[in-house]
Amino acid sequence: ARQSHDGGVANRVRVTVRLRPRNAEELEADLDFADCVELQPELKRLKLRKNNWESETYQFDEILTETASQKRVYEVVAKPVVESVLEGYNGTVMAYGQTGTGKTFTLGKLGDEDTADRGIMVRALEDILSNINHADDTVTVSYLQLYMESVQDLLAPERDNCHIQEDPKTGDVSVPGATQIQLTDHQSFVNLLDVGESNRVAANTKLNTESSRSHALLLVQVKKAVRTKEPAENGKMRAPTIRRSKLLIVDLAGSERVDKSGSEGHTLEEAKSINLSLTALGKCINALAENSPHVPIRDSKLTRLLRDSFGGTARTSLIVTIGPSPRHRGETTSTIMFGQRAM
Ligand code: ADP
Ligand code: MG
Repeated sequence: ARQSHDGGVANRVRVTVRLRPRNAEELEADLDFADCVELQPELKRLKLRKNNWESETYQFDEILTETASQKRVYEVVAKPVVESVLEGYNGTVMAYGQTGTGKTFTLGKLGDEDTADRGIMVRALEDILSNINHADDTVTVSYLQLYMESVQDLLAPERDNCHIQEDPKTGDVSVPGATQIQLTDHQSFVNLLDVGESNRVAANTKLNTESSRSHALLLVQVKKAVRTKEPAENGKMRAPTIRRSKLLIVDLAGSERVDKSGSEGHTLEEAKSINLSLTALGKCINALAENSPHVPIRDSKLTRLLRDSFGGTARTSLIVTIGPSPRHRGETTSTIMFGQRAM
């Protein structure tokens, strides 16, 4: 913990690296390739191979190898954030990495066929729902997509330009125009996530783009009634105080540099907006790591949405996902560097 920009104590971003196993293509085509990284999980270090004789070593908070289970990933990356949300603090879990390295697998995997495959979103809601008092407390979720600086409701896709509201007094960020579903049980969340995912695919087909070009944000609001044990002076029970907190789980757009040189029109605008939001996020993460008084949170809609769940008393966990192939050494290097700047 350290001083935050608003004078309080700010939590630094915790950074975990996860390596995806080789996929079928990589297994077949590159049977004898050496992975572009060498993991040393006990030392929480990884070596990035530059060529056959040179490598660079980087330190992280945790290193998850290609054999790490989804359960372990949840426990390392998200559980501490979920626990602090249940204690009344805001928190963010986000995944950053090149398209195809496992961001959605890590966060959004439903695990219909095998519950062991379930990703962070499903496990987080399972944890939250089993740790609240259903008579007094509520859990509400919205599922949003941010594409080209416009916020779309993934639970009602016709709402494709939702307004981000910031309370000037409390600094609370909300998206009042988006559907908010109050959850009573875990299965209803799984169903809702399923609907959101299909809407994400459909919306992107309509726009003729890929989901890797947009950010998906699950916004979870927890309202807990906290009762004190001692009765008030008149002997009656005290009214409970209401404690609100928020969890954001963010599946970021693919981090690969979109080539602006060859693009024009729509593709160029898209490339610019992805670069804008990821660059803005990178700047905020750097500012937090360097304990800088100026966190440029207003620079993009992505960072505006994160405003009250990032830095200060909020807990932030970043998982950077990488693949093993040396063909993507350049992208893997820049992903590692993004994570490293948060440390
Ligand atoms: P991204 O969201 O970063 O573009 P995906 O999550 O869609 O990447 O993953 C790409 C592919 O790799 C998918 O087919 C996914 O099932 C698979 N995959 C990713 N991570 C893992 C993993 N840890 N174990 C097994 N398969 C994985
Ligand atoms: Mg994805």
